[in-house]
Amino acid sequence: ASFGFREVGEEDKARLVGDVFSSVAPSYDLMNDLMSVGLHRLWKDRLVAKLQPFAGMHHMDVAGGTGDVAFRVLRDMAADAARDPTSDAGAAPAQDGAGEWRAGGVTVCDINPAMLEEGRRRAASGGHEAGLRWVVGDAEQLPLPARSVDGYTIAFGIRNVTRIDAALAEAFRVLKPGGQFLCLEFSQLVLPGLRELYDAYSFNVIPQIGRVVARDEASYQYLVESIRRFPPQDDFAEQVRCAGFAGVAYENLSGGVCAIHSGFKL
Ligand code: SAM
Repeated sequence: ASFGFREVGEEDKARLVGDVFSSVAPSYDLMNDLMSVGLHRLWKDRLVAKLQPFAGMHHMDVAGGTGDVAFRVLRDMAADAARDPTSDAGAAPAQDGAGEWRAGGVTVCDINPAMLEEGRRRAASGGHEAGLRWVVGDAEQLPLPARSVDGYTIAFGIRNVTRIDAALAEAFRVLKPGGQFLCLEFSQLVLPGLRELYDAYSFNVIPQIGRVVARDEASYQYLVESIRRFPPQDDFAEQVRCAGFAGVAYENLSGGVCAIHSGFKL
């Protein structure tokens, strides 16, 4: 079954994306591991390595879902603080009364409360709640002031956003000058010979894993289709440039199954 996103309007798309992620939230992490045969962990590691988190930074992870990227950013912020024990930036992150970070932390923003709830639960069981703030919000209208974050990441989220240009403009707005934008997303294959295998896997195997494990074939069918519709690397790089970012570049991962686009706000 297909949701036929090409025909539906913007409001419908937002609602359907909401339905998809509410439906998949409880099984989301297991499904990620199964569908990507664990590769999503390496892709997210690479994303966060490119960010180079530093002690005391305020980072925002948009479409942050169940916290995978945020947990990695916090881990690397702590590692940086440990390298410089004299710095008080390594103190436990905390917020002041106005909700602003005093000593760095990660704001996880997602439009879907069910995904964030799952993330909160994981954070509690992993013992890393300190330094995390979970905020329900739309990538197209971020609930943070202008020039308030040092880094912005969005992993496997931007292709679900209704108006990608609006999301990029918001990323630019919330970043401080010098701040880095990083986007990890499924992309176009660049290795010849992989196409048939990839098509067979994504159109046949993934929806079946969705049916058996998550009992939700349609949501995973939607995910596969949304990947196909996302613009190729160079086109998306141009969109990032148009939003005002400088030094825009991308790195292909796993032969272009994914790409990380990056840029800076000057
Ligand atoms: N970043 C996480 C990861 O890599 O594991 C989650 C990725 S998940 C495939 C996509 C997420 O995007 C979902 O949690 C969904 O709720 C969120 N999302 C979809 N549209 C959004 C929007 N307009 N604003 C913010 N989040 C959105």
